[in-house]
Amino acid sequence: MPIYEYRCRECQEKTSKLWRGFDAPDAVPCAECGSEQTSRIISSVAFHKSLRSKLQDLDPRYDRMVDSAAANTSTSDPNQFIDRATPLSESDA
Ligand SMILES: [Zn+2]
Repeated sequence: MPIYEYRCRECQEKTSKLWRGFDAPDAVPCAECGSEQTSRIISSVAFHKSLRSKLQDLDPRYDRMVDSAAANTSTSDPNQFIDRATPLSESDA
């Protein structure tokens, strides 16, 4: 079950939210000041990092393979696929 973290745009405090659903809420009320002007942070970054390191473990040449395969297309950023992926931790709620 994932924990999502949000940064308040009013007071910059961080709010953690244990979430049982499949999709993270876009924003949760700030635990400090109650503002709903919060932005999700951390969890997607951590996920990207772990998936990237898994890809590197899988095959250290992977990045270069992707680069050469995608170099001549309009979608030459391999990370766009990771950005669209769904974390496994969101699937077993
Ligand atoms: Zn706040």
